[in-house]
Amino acid sequence: MGIFNRKQIFYKTAAEIEIMREAAQIVSRTLGILAAQIKPGVTPLHLDKIAEEYIRSQNAIPGFLGLYDFPNTLCISINEQVVHGIPGNKPLNEGDIISVDCGSYFEGYYGDHAYTFEVGEVSPEIKKLLQVTKECLEIGVAQTKVGNRIGDIGFHIQQHAEKHGYGVVRDLVGHGLGQSMHEEPQVPNYGRRGTGKQIQNGLVIAIEPMINMGTEQVIQASDNWTIITADNQPSAHFEHDVAVVNGKPEVLSTFKYIEEALAKK
Ligand code: MG
Ligand code: MG
Repeated sequence: MGIFNRKQIFYKTAAEIEIMREAAQIVSRTLGILAAQIKPGVTPLHLDKIAEEYIRSQNAIPGFLGLYDFPNTLCISINEQVVHGIPGNKPLNEGDIISVDCGSYFEGYYGDHAYTFEVGEVSPEIKKLLQVTKECLEIGVAQTKVGNRIGDIGFHIQQHAEKHGYGVVRDLVGHGLGQSMHEEPQVPNYGRRGTGKQIQNGLVIAIEPMINMGTEQVIQASDNWTIITADNQPSAHFEHDVAVVNGKPEVLSTFKYIEEALAKK
């Protein structure tokens, strides 16, 4: 989502970062629960209900539900859908990939975290797209440190994705996170090194590479939400919430619960 309410960057105190860590962990646990459920035949709407119930059980509320009038707890984007897919009743198919993006609102702060899951067995080409996109996220996180600028994050993500011949989505970007879901600064997944705002302690951002197997061009579907690739090739999306503490990146969200659930499958 690329809608920004404020121009200023709100740097967070240690106490705020601790609340945001819990907001991010609630989303991380939610995605871990979903990881165990995702298989052919399951509907996105079923996953959405599980997520909403769990988030509410954690004294939080779904961060996306009602935000800019979005109708659900999860954005579920399948195959050529990039982001902002609305969960529906059509069962998942073997070989699909689904990007599950989830937000929480906990004690006045947002968490925002996403993972692209394989449904059953997917092709080697798609496995590679997921792997490289996850690497792009890790590379972006590593650049989120004092001494760098925001442009360094996008520069390195773009280099890695394009090295593999993939398209880096330009129309949607990562973002600052806090008392609003989308704060300054914008965090593009492309750009020039040494440009943009200086990274300072207390910065909290959502880094979220959206990487397409083919063209970087995207279009919006007729539901006015779902973003899809212009060439209908698949797209992957991974997202972490990252705070800058003592000059270094600290990832507030985690894939640990997802990886534990997938290992048991
Ligand atoms: Mg998100
Ligand atoms: Mg986000």
